[in-house]
Amino acid sequence: MTGRPKPGEFELIARHFAPLAAGHALAFDLTDDAALLRPEPDRDLVLTADAVVAGVHFLPDDAPDLIAAKLLRVNLSDLAAMAARPRGYLLTAAWPSGTDENWIARFAAGLAADQSEFGIAMLGGDTVATTGPLTLSLTALGDVPRGRALRRNGATPGDLVFVSGSIGDGALGLRVLRGEIAGLGDDDAGFLAGRYHLPRPRLALGQALSGLAGAGLDVSDGLVADLGHICAVSGVGAVIRAADVPVSTAARAALDADPGRLATVLTGGDDYELLFTVPAARKPRIADLAERLDLPLTEIGEITGGRGVRVIGPDGAPMRFTAAGYTHA
Ligand SMILES: [Mg+2]
Repeated sequence: MTGRPKPGEFELIARHFAPLAAGHALAFDLTDDAALLRPEPDRDLVLTADAVVAGVHFLPDDAPDLIAAKLLRVNLSDLAAMAARPRGYLLTAAWPSGTDENWIARFAAGLAADQSEFGIAMLGGDTVATTGPLTLSLTALGDVPRGRALRRNGATPGDLVFVSGSIGDGALGLRVLRGEIAGLGDDDAGFLAGRYHLPRPRLALGQALSGLAGAGLDVSDGLVADLGHICAVSGVGAVIRAADVPVSTAARAALDADPGRLATVLTGGDDYELLFTVPAARKPRIADLAERLDLPLTEIGEITGGRGVRVIGPDGAPMRFTAAGYTHA
């Protein structure tokens, strides 16, 4: 926590945030004006930031530890997408005056749990009071061997398109939490809600894809839109087969009950899986990697000439997506 905290803020920082910096010797227990980060030779630093606002990105009555974990994890997912290893993070919090200290304690506990899970520490940040809604901004720092970051611009026609894990759980989970999907079993509903609240940044996969994948990113906007981002930056097109997109058992149950939810799976976002392209000759290496990481890596389509993303539906007809769902093109 840098800058000049007001009286009272020292207390808050010492009690709840300084312990989060204890794992990083050069954060000086947040006593100094800034932390130091000693870059390792022959590595590039990787920086990413993400902010969330109460009432926009989370609900005021969401569990504080889950808000903390998700904020940290979406940033770690961006590091994973760049093939980076996480080093630490900075947090800036704008608390509405009168925020319950217990809320802050539970928020810090969520950060502490994930710090040990991912082996990182808080490096610093700032806290301020606001008359607006609770706003939290987190900046994550990582590193990658020099020149080996995974970018979005390396897709080439003929490359295969792969995705990790399962797609659609987060978007379906949000709809479960909003009460928009009824009739699922408790286990399936709980699984989908959990995937929305607690994404799993694919850090080991991201680092393994350096030098193996041509292009990659993490799926946050939705599978179709995010593949569109790769295509736009790489100057290529892509075709994917909806029937090959991997879904969880719980998502399958939701799709069986209403096949129209396929649009949510393909475009809903909040997946935080990695989407990447590889030259076809490297396909066996992806199979080996899936086995080594014990993580499904599924081929869903290929990079083509032209522009834009085409989606072939389960019935073999092209799909076209609208705000309301999808129609046959
Ligand atoms: Mg991203």
